[in-house]
Amino acid sequence: MLTDLRSLELRGKKVLLRCDFNVPLEGGAIADATRIDASLETIRYILAQGGIAVMCSHLGRPTERDSRLSLKPVADYLSEKLGAKVALAPDCIGDITGRMIGALADGQALLLENVRFHPEEEANDPDFAHELARGKQVYVNDAFGTAHRAHASTVGVTRFLSERAPGFLMMREVEVLRTVTEQPEHPYVAILGGAKVSDKIGVIRNLMTKVDAILVGGAMAYTFLRAQGVATGRSRVEEDKLEVAREVLEAAAKRGLAFELPSDHVVADAPAADAITEIVQHIPADKMGLDIGPATIDRFSARIAAARTVIWNGPLGLFELTPFARGTLEVAQALANSGARSVLGGGDTAAAVAGQPWAGKFWHISTGGGATLEFLEGRELPGIKALER
Ligand code: AMP
Repeated sequence: MLTDLRSLELRGKKVLLRCDFNVPLEGGAIADATRIDASLETIRYILAQGGIAVMCSHLGRPTERDSRLSLKPVADYLSEKLGAKVALAPDCIGDITGRMIGALADGQALLLENVRFHPEEEANDPDFAHELARGKQVYVNDAFGTAHRAHASTVGVTRFLSERAPGFLMMREVEVLRTVTEQPEHPYVAILGGAKVSDKIGVIRNLMTKVDAILVGGAMAYTFLRAQGVATGRSRVEEDKLEVAREVLEAAAKRGLAFELPSDHVVADAPAADAITEIVQHIPADKMGLDIGPATIDRFSARIAAARTVIWNGPLGLFELTPFARGTLEVAQALANSGARSVLGGGDTAAAVAGQPWAGKFWHISTGGGATLEFLEGRELPGIKALER
């Protein structure tokens, strides 16, 4: 059982709030603030209750202090959004940080510096976790995107903070994913795309027992096509996954599951923004498949139109380049306009639909990529388990 954040008394208490502020940076500026915005509700709630929000997060993958991965831009963004100064502590632990926390009044917030400046974070070191927890009375975790990692700030700290709860974002993510995994309305369809079969094999195996159809696009479709003996030209194929792909295809056939692969393709000589493209049913030996073709878009869209629940992870083509974005966008639009409960996961999938006028019509766009996949694989996420009473 997870505690409802609203049931905790926060006034005057120091709340260690783990957020996922792992935002993309471009030239030192935040390129996409979606993840920060997603936690504003939780931050505002804690402050409005008179709690003291001591926020922490990782950013990037440093193994030691690296000024390029400082959370300073996040502190500035939060100050602007919250309409009150959010200072950045020079570190997430230590005496100076401790004094800064001690000086905060009720309803004030402070951001701690990148927890991954300490290798002890990813090692889930108990002494480091103890230091992080020191001086706080409550732990709130809103970092769904990191819930599949057992790190000090997501799991270790819970040993020292018995009053704990998920933030509103975390709670929403968990509720949505539990609803679709435990009681999906049928027809239940999974759309899987992206680069690699190897990343998605666990989720495919688990979903095979639950869904009515799996629609596969993206580069990973070519590994399945090749496994069926279809010519894939110079498309990206994981040669070492052909056997696994064959096993999956056989298992799907045995179950009578609709496992749909692309039947036409947008091909080109190379993945370039100015590539000359062609739509083909048979991929020539010297071309690569970079998006699903129009007949596949129609077939996938028809499946979606009849579905009641749809989960989607991974783009259906090389959507970052306009000539290969159509498959992902048209199928996404069909999904947005369908009556199905739709859940999108993964940073690429979310990025592909961001800014589209129909993007608000999805039931849920998850802030998690790996965490969503592991949840759908049926695995217990350590960051959620650690919050349980
Ligand atoms: P993933 O991280 O596994 O979800 O993979 C996403 C990446 O796969 C994106 O950068 C896509 O552009 C890329 N991708 C999707 N389809 C293709 C394709 N047919 N060929 C090459 N890359 C692709």
